[in-house]
Amino acid sequence: MDTNISPVMRIIAIAVLVLTPLVVVIFQRLEDIREINRKRQNGELDLSPGSFFPAGSRPNLGKPVEIICPQCHSSNPADHQYCGHCGAQLTPERENEK
Ligand SMILES: [Zn+2]
Repeated sequence: MDTNISPVMRIIAIAVLVLTPLVVVIFQRLEDIREINRKRQNGELDLSPGSFFPAGSRPNLGKPVEIICPQCHSSNPADHQYCGHCGAQLTPERENEK
């Protein structure tokens, strides 16, 4: 009678067998998440919404469609680096991104 495993112990054993792979997977994901966060903080990874869409079809999320030239105040496409009217540089801060 005492040699039988109690139902509670059997349930615990099954739960451990089922949950152990899940815990392992979750820990592996945690390592990946930590790695991603580290890369993002170092600026190595671009997690902005636009990076998930291929170029050309990406929506303008938080990005201006047009850039106003600081010199001649004419509008230029947002992906242009220099003004098409006067040639002034439109986005000097992008020089440090790559
Ligand atoms: Zn201009």
